[in-house]
Amino acid sequence: MARIIVVGGNFSGLTAALELRRKLGHDHEVIMISKSLDFLFVPSLIWVPFGKREIKDITVPLKIVATKAGLKFICTEIIEILAKDKVVRCRDKDFKYDYLIIATGPEWIFDQIAGLGLDSKVSFIVTPETALVARKRWLEFITDPGPVVIGAAPGSQCTGPAYEFLFNLEKRCRDLGIRKKVEITFITPEPFLGHLGIGGMTGSNFILKKLLPMFKINYITNAEIHEVSSESIILKSGQSIPYKFSMIMPIFKGAKVVRDSTGLGTEDAFIPVNNTYQHKQYPNIFGVGIAADLPIKFRTPVPIGVPKTGYAADESAKTAAENIVRLLHGNNKLEAKPMGNIPDLCIMDAGDKEMLTITDSLLKPRRFSMVLPNPFYDLSKLMFEKYYLWKVRHGYSRLP
Ligand SMILES: Cc1cc2nc3c(=O)[nH]c(=O)nc-3n(C[C@H](O)[C@H](O)[C@H](O)COP(=O)(O)OP(=O)(O)OC[C@H]3O[C@@H](n4cnc5c(N)ncnc54)[C@H](O)[C@@H]3O)c2cc1C
Repeated sequence: MARIIVVGGNFSGLTAALELRRKLGHDHEVIMISKSLDFLFVPSLIWVPFGKREIKDITVPLKIVATKAGLKFICTEIIEILAKDKVVRCRDKDFKYDYLIIATGPEWIFDQIAGLGLDSKVSFIVTPETALVARKRWLEFITDPGPVVIGAAPGSQCTGPAYEFLFNLEKRCRDLGIRKKVEITFITPEPFLGHLGIGGMTGSNFILKKLLPMFKINYITNAEIHEVSSESIILKSGQSIPYKFSMIMPIFKGAKVVRDSTGLGTEDAFIPVNNTYQHKQYPNIFGVGIAADLPIKFRTPVPIGVPKTGYAADESAKTAAENIVRLLHGNNKLEAKPMGNIPDLCIMDAGDKEMLTITDSLLKPRRFSMVLPNPFYDLSKLMFEKYYLWKVRHGYSRLP
């Protein structure tokens, strides 16, 4: 009987563990280890500052999911991975493994820019804690409104959520009757609006170039934030943009545990994987989701990162799980699915409206890509959230 350990219990970790359990039955031991007790539907963090979601609305206790699926779940933090010894180490215990899936997601780098950080006046929405701080500041802001700056740091791999937050904020200002007092500026490292770290999609630039002026939102592309003070954001060009409320998407690197494990990760603590999601040096280790290295393909005036979306996280997890099953069954012909070529379907909220982005391949060359605006409702986004949380609650990892 082999022991497979999955570290991480969110999009990619939970999917991988459930798929292994489903495909292997009880012939092998599958253990999912996560430092968080809950699954978190990260995309809905954009709504937390505006009170449209509470954290409890977008989380599912992993214990319930694991019990239903007959999966062993341990809530603890892995502090080191000893690849040569096939051991994962937490504070009080070591676990031996035959196969390991690393699904540890990102480590957010909040202080990459002078003056920016968790103690700065700029808000973030990338974890429940930061989204709740953003909510507190938003509630203070609406009692005494002023200029707003929304955007992304140079190198950010998450420009999509910056647009979503921007449109939501603009709509809330209109709903509250304070829009005239709020000058909104969007700053982005993208070379053009709608690049999104993937070279753009058919229609993305055209639509956003129409939408931002229509909503009277100023924007600056190729924006490289140089410094942040308590009152303004200073760009490398010298331009200083005042703010009373600001939200910036920071960059991320790979998880701390990868950084702390000698010889395991890249310089940025991602897992160097081949197209089967196997570690390039340790074939019994797999890296999936954000943890997997996806070398940057773009040369842009200001650096921009490639997003690793929830769909790609799920697909990479399914591929890794399938490959472990094959290896355990003595089949060395593994499935290859490079992350850059995984199709992508994203629903971007645009403040009670939405944009569906669909492509057959995350990165170019592509056969097709398109953006479908829905100017009436954000129904698909809401339905997708409900669907995904339902899928998680029932452990239906087989579904897309
Ligand atoms: C604001 C925001 C909005 C987004 N919107 C979208 C969207 O609309 N559509 C989309 O497709 N994608 C979106 N994304 C991206 C999406 O959230 C990611 O693709 C997805 O979360 C990646 O899943 P993951 O499993 O790789 O990592 P994560 O979801 O980050 O999970 C990492 C897991 O590892 C665990 N972990 C980490 N370190 C350890 C350790 N040392 N020991 C034990 N456990 C550990 C964590 O507790 C967690 O369970 C958004 C991201 C953000 C920040």
